[in-house]
Parts: sequence; structure tokens; C-alpha cells
Amino acid sequence: MRSGQPRLDLEGALIARDRVGIQDFVLLDAFTSETAFLDNLKKRFNENLIYTYIGTLLVSVNPYKELGIYTKKQMDIYMGVNFFELPPHIYALADNAYHAMLTEMNNHFFLISGESGAGKTEACKKILQFYAVSCPTSSLLDSIRDRMLVSNPVLEAFGNAKTLKNDNSSRFGKYMDIQFDRQGEAVGGHILSYLLEKSRVVHQNHGERNFHIFYQLVEGGEEETLRLLGLERDCKHYSYLVQGEYRTVRTINDKNDWKTMRNALTIINFSEKDIEHLLGIVGSVLHLGNVQFEADRDGYARLSSKAELRWVSKLLGIHVQVLQEALTFRKIEAKTEEVLSPFSVDHAIYARDALAKALYGRMFTWIVNKINDSLENLDSSKKTVIGLLDIYGFEVFYVNSFEQFCINYCNEKLQQLFIQLTLKSEQEEYEAEGIEWEPVQFFNNKIICDLVEEKRTGIITMLDEECMRPGDTTDITFLERLEERMGSHPHFITSPRSNMKQLNWSCFRNLASYLLFIIPGFIDKNNDLLYRNIKDMIRHSKNGIVRHCFPPTEVDSKKRPETVASQFKSSLAELTEILMAKQPWYIRCLKSNEAKQPGRFDDMLVRHQVKYLGLMEHLRVRRAGFAYRRRYEVFLQRYKPLCPATWPHWKGVPAVGVEKLLIHLGYKEDDYKIGRTKIFIRHPKTLFAIEDAYEIC
Ligand code: ATP
Ligand code: MG
Repeated sequence: MRSGQPRLDLEGALIARDRVGIQDFVLLDAFTSETAFLDNLKKRFNENLIYTYIGTLLVSVNPYKELGIYTKKQMDIYMGVNFFELPPHIYALADNAYHAMLTEMNNHFFLISGESGAGKTEACKKILQFYAVSCPTSSLLDSIRDRMLVSNPVLEAFGNAKTLKNDNSSRFGKYMDIQFDRQGEAVGGHILSYLLEKSRVVHQNHGERNFHIFYQLVEGGEEETLRLLGLERDCKHYSYLVQGEYRTVRTINDKNDWKTMRNALTIINFSEKDIEHLLGIVGSVLHLGNVQFEADRDGYARLSSKAELRWVSKLLGIHVQVLQEALTFRKIEAKTEEVLSPFSVDHAIYARDALAKALYGRMFTWIVNKINDSLENLDSSKKTVIGLLDIYGFEVFYVNSFEQFCINYCNEKLQQLFIQLTLKSEQEEYEAEGIEWEPVQFFNNKIICDLVEEKRTGIITMLDEECMRPGDTTDITFLERLEERMGSHPHFITSPRSNMKQLNWSCFRNLASYLLFIIPGFIDKNNDLLYRNIKDMIRHSKNGIVRHCFPPTEVDSKKRPETVASQFKSSLAELTEILMAKQPWYIRCLKSNEAKQPGRFDDMLVRHQVKYLGLMEHLRVRRAGFAYRRRYEVFLQRYKPLCPATWPHWKGVPAVGVEKLLIHLGYKEDDYKIGRTKIFIRHPKTLFAIEDAYEIC
């Protein structure tokens, strides 16, 4: 097709376009109408065309079914081909980012966003697989490539879980750099992880599960492994696994996933000792969950039975008596001596859960570090990187707590980054090309980010103040202070729901408003404190990973650790800096329906996402002035068959050839602008039909 003159059947193309929609929204003639936008998405979705462009941004609608579009053959088709020459595909972005990186010798990243279950993690994996297959490689580098690929099942086992929104929901944020040498070989990688939802270890809402690894181990672990860990092959025995009342999931095969994960650990160079210690921690968390307390005659906590604690003691290598004391007493430092103060049953449960969360959370960080060691590239020659950002998506449940506050704040930050980068780049492009343009007005969510993170008056600062304020601070006192200080903010609303005092934080973006969080647990989760004697005890563990995760320096330090929200805020600020220094590529994932059903397109749900992701605004920015732009050479190469003066070759200056071609197609002087390196077209009405002819042929 590309070698000969295209068979141009404009009428046929227009009829077909009616059926399958348009592959680039920028070319949609019904100017920025939301209904037309949705209509186009739906048409394409019904034809199993899940990808559509807005310029170089990729919109992806989750089909919830295998479409056969990620084969090696498909990868080959997209390798080394110009962006708009083929139907939209995630491979087109991956390939173009890769070639741009190699020719311009600069760094790129993919910002993949969308709500929980929209397909971000899948998108990320598709890009990684594309590079694994398409990049040149040597046998030495094969192992790096394999490790990079198998890091996914490991991180997903420990960091993903079934939620109401998604059977494989990421409960941590991940940014992964793939490093390339000058020849374009993938030579190394590095992963940054963000705020794991540790509270899931000890509590799951109805219909949800704990992290996959627990079910994988219990269902798939070898007999001998389970025996050594003292575990039974049935999840219902473990109190930490039964709260959500959901142990098996139709779309998940825990047994197979266990095998994949276990195999991956070996590929990533985890030693047998590492694996033994790692599983020892997973097992000890399950046993900890079964440790029960009852009140003694004085109302203080004592163990109901010692059997579970013995297993914890064995797996962590801590004397059972020491463990028991740490879970039922608190050490208080008086003037000259330390006094032991007994816990109530509630306190003991709190201490037990805090220990389980700390063990699991730190083990997760250890795993990420271990994977990084195995992906490290020791060659110091200059490298360029492509970054993949896969963060937990925006989520709203019936009960929303500190976790949703952090997750949704993170999504607001990424939206802010998107706004800054797209506006900036649009402005810069017009300036660079010497073309005048009028800025487009749109909702800037900076006001919402400020509400959360502003240094002196933001919600995080107020939460930290409340956590550090001496006296009886509770979630309610925090809420009251928030109401007092923020009451008049246009994006902040509080209202009680049923008998629970709750906080609604609503954002109005294009009328898309949503409830963001409810207060209980904020102070506690933000403090994330582990009693001192528990830390004291745990550092003496004989389990190597545990010892590594609880260094003595931390116990000895008198400094109060930074709060969770503050840490998260700083790590997001660092992430923003990392990303701002790279060339962005955007993938906006949309969820087609809440029921996770194949082929179902719920108009209301998609419309809502289109709104809050600001897709219409982005389209308006792209269309303001000049909807269509291409480098002269690319444009000529593609459309030269349409004009006798340019076919088969144009020998003169490319810009002149392009102008000749446009005049031949009937474009008036006002319809286009000649930039320095690109042609800019205001409304490319005929061109879209041609684009479609290409897609359908
Ligand atoms: P979260 O924010 O909860 O982590 P997510 O955006 O990462 O959500 P994914 O886990 O990527 O969502 O996708 C959810 C599910 O949707 C997948 O497990 C898969 O079943 C399906 N899915 C997503 N993308 C595709 C795709 N391109 N093709 C087929 N199925 C898909
Ligand atoms: Mg995910």
C-alpha cells in the first residue's frame, strides 16, 4: 500500500467512517461536541477498535476481552513506521517514543492515567513487552530483559489485590525507567514505588481480598513449603483472608500465578535463603492475624492460645516470650527506669495489626530494592531512558479513607502535570514554528492540589499539625479544625452522612463532582507509629530480611519519623521533577463499564471519565487554531500520490511541495499556515476521509 499509489475511494471511506468512527479526534468535524466525541468512541469500541488518538495522545477503552491485537505480528507491523500511517495502537506510541529517544538522544516517559480498572497496568505491560520483543539485544542483555518482564508478576503478587473496582488493582504506585544504550538495547532498569496500601494486610472491605500473594501461597504453595510455614491449604483458616468474604475470583488462578511468581523470583536472582525468609514473613503475617486476645481478671489483654504465636516466633526467629510481651505490654520510659504497662485487648489487637502492616510494608520495599539490584546496569556509559508511570487509579467507594485521599491526591497531581505539560508544549510548538495562537480557557485543577498540599494551610499540613498536637486529638477534632479553616473554600464541602461524621471533599470540574473521602482513621494512618518495644524486639529477628528492614539506627533515633502524607507529598514532588525533565507521551485509559463485562459500553460512565480527565479540553487545545500538523517530509511522503506535481517524487523544498499539494486539494490560503518545519491545517475536512481510507484498506 505504501509503495504504490493508494486506491482512494473517498465515498467508500466516508461510508465506512460512519461505521467505525474516526481514528483521530482532532479530525472530527463536529467541533468539540461531547456527544460526537462519545459517539465516535462507542462506534470504534463496538468494532473492537479500542484505541483512538487526540493528536499524539492515545485514548484507550478497556474491552475486558482479548482482542488478538498484541501479537508478534502486530508488533512487527508497528516497528519503525511513522505515527499516523497505521491505525492507532499503543505500539505506535511505544515505537515512536523509542525512535525519538534514539535520534534526539533524550529521555521520554509515558503518563498512563485513568480510574481504577481502566487498563493502566495492562497498558504498561504492553509497552514493556513491545520493547522486550522489538529492541535489539545480545545474550547478556537477554537476562536483563527477562528480569524486567518478570518483575511484573512479582510486584503484582505482593502489591496488587482484588478490589470492588478491579480484580487486579494496583495498591501501590510504580514508576519504572527502562535504560537504553546508544544502540537502542535495553541495558537496565530502575523502579520507584509509592505508598503501598498496607492497611489491606489487616483489613479488607466486603467483596475485596488481601494482596494476591497470600492466596497464591495458600492455594499453590508446595506441600513442603506449607509444612515448613505451618500453613493449612485453605484460606478460610486465616482471619486476615476472610474479612472481605471473597477468597476466589473468577478471573484469577492463584495456583498458576503462584508458579509464575515463584519462577520469577528465581529469574530475578532471589537466593533460596531470600525466598525462605520472604515466605517466612508472608507466613508469619498470616499467623499473626490468627493471634487472639482475651481480657484477664483485671481487664488486660492476654493470649487466647499460644499456638499461632509459636509459629510467628519460629518464622521470625524471635523468642516467643519476647513476642508475647511486645504484643501485650507497652514499655514506658519513666525518669530513671522503664516500666511495663499492660495493654487492653483493643490495644493488643492494634499492636498486632501494626506489626503485621509494618512487616509487610517493609518487606515490599525490600523486594523492590532487590529487583532494582538485579536490573542495575553497571556500565557507566551514557544512557537514555523511557519511563513508565503506572499509579493506582482514581477511586471512590462507599467508604473512602486515608488511602483514597492519597490515591486521589496523586491523581490530581498527575492531572496537574498533564495540564502543565500539554499547555506548555502547545504554546512552545506554536512559538517555535512562528505561528500565532490564542490560549484556550480551561479548568486548572491547581486549586485542588493547593487545597491538599499548600505549605501553610493545606490539608496535609493541618493533618500533620493535628497528629503532632499534644492532648486528645482524634479524627473528629481534625475534621472540626478543617471545617473551621477551610469552610469557605469553593472546592471543600463537609456534610454528615447517616450517623458517621464524614468529610466530603468535592471537586467541580465540568460539573463532574465526586465524593472524595470520609474521615475515620486519618490521624492513626498518617502517624503510622509502631510501638517502641515492638521495634526493639523485631530488630533482633533471625530472619535476614526482617533484620535488614528494621535497622537499629531507626530504633535508636529520637527523631519523630515524617508522617505518611508528608512523605507521600515529597515523593510526588520528586516524581514531578523527574517527569518534567522528560518528553511526555500520554495514554488516557477509560473504563467501559463497572461490571467488568466484555464489549459493554456504558455511555454515562465513559462520559463522566471523558469529563474529569479533561479530554474535551485537551481536544479543544489541540484544535484551537490548527487542528492538524505534520512535519513536511512526513506529510509529503504520505500524501504525495494525491497530486501530480508531487507524485512520484517532489524534488524541491518540502514546504513548497506541501503547499502545492494543498492547493491542488482545494485548500484556501486561510485554511493552513506554513510553519518552520511543519504544516498546520485549521480543519482538515478532506484529510480525515483519506486517513480513514488508509485505516480501512
Ligand atoms: P488500578 O488503578 O485499579 O490498578 P488499572 O487501570 O491498572 O487499575 P488494569 O489492571 O490494567 O487496570 O485493568 C483491569 C482489567 O481490565 C485487566 O485485568 C484486564 O482484565 C482488563 N483489561 C485492561 N486493559 C485491557 C486490554 N487492553 N485488553 C483486554 N483487557 C484489558
Ligand atoms: Mg493497575
